[in-house]
Amino acid sequence: MSDNHTPTGFNPVLTAQPRTIFDVMSSLARELDAINLGQGFPDQDGSPDVRAFAAESLLKDSNQYPPSLGLPQLRNAVADHYRRFQGLDLDGMSEVVVTSGATEALAAAIFGLISPGDEVVMFQPLYDAYLPLVKMAGGVPRFVRLEPPHWKITAEALDAVFSPKTKLVLFNDPLNPSAVVYGLDELTLLADACIRNDVIAVCDEVWEHLVYDGRQHIPLIALPGMRERTVKIGSAGKIFSLTGWKIGFICAAPPLATAIAKAHAFLTFTTPPNLQLAVAYGMGKDDGYFAPMREGFARSRDRLAAGLTAEGFSILPSQGTYFLLLDLKASGIEADDWTFSQRAVRECGVATIPVSAFYAEDPITSVVRLCFCKKDETLDAGIERLAKARKLF
Ligand code: PMP
Repeated sequence: MSDNHTPTGFNPVLTAQPRTIFDVMSSLARELDAINLGQGFPDQDGSPDVRAFAAESLLKDSNQYPPSLGLPQLRNAVADHYRRFQGLDLDGMSEVVVTSGATEALAAAIFGLISPGDEVVMFQPLYDAYLPLVKMAGGVPRFVRLEPPHWKITAEALDAVFSPKTKLVLFNDPLNPSAVVYGLDELTLLADACIRNDVIAVCDEVWEHLVYDGRQHIPLIALPGMRERTVKIGSAGKIFSLTGWKIGFICAAPPLATAIAKAHAFLTFTTPPNLQLAVAYGMGKDDGYFAPMREGFARSRDRLAAGLTAEGFSILPSQGTYFLLLDLKASGIEADDWTFSQRAVRECGVATIPVSAFYAEDPITSVVRLCFCKKDETLDAGIERLAKARKLF
């Protein structure tokens, strides 16, 4: 073997993964100087006072390793926050673990709770991290396929997918990218399936504060019989429009929290103390902060929806999240979502996300995701360019 032999044969789960679609579209948007309605991040930073708190804390507080489970101030603030907003009764010190974003919370929950060969039920469309994480843990994915326009969860679909080998269900509500907020009927179906099959639910609720038109987010952990078998995951990045901060939290009964904390200890061990303290401060905010935030995002959603409708596009209802879906077929566009997204960014300078990227098998190919948490002028320019893209087909 020569000295400059390059090693090969790395983890096939990861080498088989394409670059994430968000990365692909954001790079293209930068390269082509396109309007980026693809990746989900606000173009204005949130909460100046939370940021000022973090800046001051960086200079005046400790910058050394905080406890692995998170600073008590933040763990207690998370428990108190969910008591006030969702009526949950969590003990901050035994039922909350702070993580480096919801992504690490998901990894720690999956690695901490399943063993190789365990089946994991997931819903498609699914967030891009879920499947590689499940596979890296040796889990066996089982999918429920959800379809536009209602993305309904049915008892039949759940019956077909749960088996005696099912250990965990991974559930995202409000759901990215479909922008649906699940109500009590569907949550009850899911809770019943978990209880009947003795399954743990890992609930990715990062969009919990971004629900519109008077809707209420219902955490699955609050349903009868779910308190001891549900892991609730949140993200300060989404709550405060500070997506780069990567502070997340898991909330679960002590046996689950302890198992997950062990995985967390070997993934990242801990998370920057100053950001934790600033998030603890922010979690104390009341509806005086959250209501205007929601109203602001709902206004942007309505602006984008109205502009696109006026240009002849057909859109799907957006009940929550930062996202609005364009129904290509109903808009008279026969091209698939990849073709539309590629041509829209390359030929008209507007980046979008094809929804088929959120399916591991049997994709929906006629829907494109747009992110509306942008300044009015960005949205208006996006509408104009999408209107041009429409004429390409
Ligand atoms: N889950 C879902 C459903 C998301 O949409 C996102 C962010 N887009 C995350 C998890 C990741 O959250 P974080 O940045 O806190 O890791």
